[in-house]
Amino acid sequence: MKVPFFEPDIGEAEIEEVVQCLRRGWLTTGPKASQFENDFREYLGGNVECVSVNSATAGLHLAVEALGISDGDEIIVPDYTFTATAEIVRYMGAEPILIDVDKRTLNITPEGVKKAITKKTKAVIPVHFAGLAADMPGILSVARDAGIAVIEDAAHALPAFKDGTMVGQFDSDATIFSFYANKTITTGEGGMLVTKNPELAKRARTMRLHGFDRDAFDRFKGGGWKYDIVAPGFKYNMTDIAAGIGIHQLKKSQQFRDSRHRIAKRYIKGLEGLPIELPVDGDSQNDHSWHIFGIRIRPETGVKRDDLLVAMVDRGISCSVHYRPLHAMTYWRERYSLKEDQFPVAHLAGEQSISLPIYPKMPDEQVDYVVSTLWELLGQ
Ligand SMILES: *Cc1c(COP(=O)(O)O)cnc(C)c1O
Repeated sequence: MKVPFFEPDIGEAEIEEVVQCLRRGWLTTGPKASQFENDFREYLGGNVECVSVNSATAGLHLAVEALGISDGDEIIVPDYTFTATAEIVRYMGAEPILIDVDKRTLNITPEGVKKAITKKTKAVIPVHFAGLAADMPGILSVARDAGIAVIEDAAHALPAFKDGTMVGQFDSDATIFSFYANKTITTGEGGMLVTKNPELAKRARTMRLHGFDRDAFDRFKGGGWKYDIVAPGFKYNMTDIAAGIGIHQLKKSQQFRDSRHRIAKRYIKGLEGLPIELPVDGDSQNDHSWHIFGIRIRPETGVKRDDLLVAMVDRGISCSVHYRPLHAMTYWRERYSLKEDQFPVAHLAGEQSISLPIYPKMPDEQVDYVVSTLWELLGQ
C-alpha cells in the first residue's frame, strides 16, 4: 500500500472559481481577495481585521515591521519551529532569542518566556505547534507585565482553541495563518495577518504593496494613476486566483479538521502500548487542529529515528520530521554559537520525532496500515 504524507483536498468549487477568475481577467489582488478577507473575519467572529498576504512568512514580516522592531531588539522565538518564525526577525536586523519548549506540548511556556525577557526584549512569537494552542492567557499575561508585544505564528492552528478561545481571537498584537500547499487549508501559497489593532492593520496593508497609500483594489475602482508612496514597502499581496481557492477551502475548514481529528483518534487508539510518546490530545475547550500528528520514539527502544523513517518508506509510507530544531541548522547555530544542551527538550524531540501521514481524505485502511507497520517495526 502507498501512503502519501499529505494530499490537499481541492474540490470542484475551487477549480471552478479559478477558471472563472481567469475568464474574468482580474488576476491579482481584487474583489476575491477582499471577499476572502471578509469571510475570514466572519469565520473568526467578526471583531478582527484581516490582511491577506502571499505567505505566512510575509505576514510575520509585516507584523514585526508594523511593530517597529529594529536593530538590536530581541524577539523571543521557540527553538522548535520552522525557520520562518526566526528569519523574519533577522529581516528587521533584530535578534531572535531561541528558547526551549515544554516536554509534553512542544510549545513555549509563560515561564520560559519570562526567563528570557531582558531590557532589549520587544516581542515574543509563540508557535502553536502541530495545532495544539500554546498557553496564550499565560503568555499574554507575562508579555503585558513586561510591556512586550505578542505575535502568534498560527501556521498550524486553523482552527485551534485554548480554554474555549479560538486562535485569532486572543488579544495579541497579530496572529498569522498560513495557506501553504500542505497546511490545514491552502491557497497554494498564501497567508492571513489577523489583528485587533486598526493601526497595525493599516500599516500592514500599506507595506504589503510597495507602500502605496491605497491598495491596488482601490486603484482598480478608479483614479489609479493618483497614488502616493509613503514608505519603501514590499510585494506581499495575495492574488485573486489564490483568494478564490481560499474562499472555498475556508468553508470546508471545520470538515477538514473533523476528518483529521478522527484520524488522530484512530492513531492514538491503535498506537497505545508502543514505546513512543503520543502527541497531547485536545479536549472540548482546547481543540487541536491536528495539522501534524507527531510521535516520539522513546530513547530506550534503541531504534534510530532515521532508520525507522527509511523502514517506513520501504513499506510505502511517506513520513516527515517536525522539526530539526533551529539550533541544529548551520546558520542559526553559527550566528548565535548555539549548543544543543541549551535546548534539551527540543534537541531530543528533534532526534526522536516522526510525523505520520494525516490529511482529510486519508482512508481508514491507510491509517490502519501505518499503525500495523509501526507495531511490526517497534512492537518487540
Ligand atoms: C509553514 C510555516 C510557516 C511559513 O508559512 P508560509 O505560508 O509557507 O510562509 C511559518 N511558521 C510555521 C511554524 C510553519 O509551519
